[in-house]
Amino acid sequence: MILNGWLLPAIALHKPSPNFNARPELVDVSLLVVHNISLPPGEFGNGCIDQFFLNQLDSSQHSYFQTIADLCVSAHCMISRAGVITQYVSFDERAWHAGQSCFDGIDDCNNYSIGIELEGTDTTPYTHQQYVALVELTRMLQLAYPQITDSRIVGHCDIAPGRKTDPGDAFDWSLYRGKLALGV
Ligand SMILES: [Zn+2]
Repeated sequence: MILNGWLLPAIALHKPSPNFNARPELVDVSLLVVHNISLPPGEFGNGCIDQFFLNQLDSSQHSYFQTIADLCVSAHCMISRAGVITQYVSFDERAWHAGQSCFDGIDDCNNYSIGIELEGTDTTPYTHQQYVALVELTRMLQLAYPQITDSRIVGHCDIAPGRKTDPGDAFDWSLYRGKLALGV
């Protein structure tokens, strides 16, 4: 369930990020973008993604962090390897996840999309719990934002080709779409 743009606390942890702004007026939420992230790359479960989206990443922790610590980015949600959902930005606000992007001829997908990060890499199989959580989250979002039809669920790679590759070959689109279509 979604209330005022936020998943209920029973469904998701709330860690509000300062990295958002208002969506343009008269723009409907009509696209779901699936991403992956891991910090440092390939390492999971250390809280660094939360720190990154909250502008609290300590760049002295890891050399990689020095290349990203000054970025101000966010996603609406992240799904951990254990299938736990954390929400950082209200779905009614504009999170900063897509960057330069285009879908169906419309630029700047952040204006009209919801960004979901899966904790992972392009080449590491995602967990069963992540698919289950992603399917449940997708259904809730499609109920609240009916313009997110199945054909308007894409990867970051699809809206920023040549620049982004996530969620990568490891993401099983047929498994995800199959679960979604089952409706159970
Ligand atoms: Zn991405």
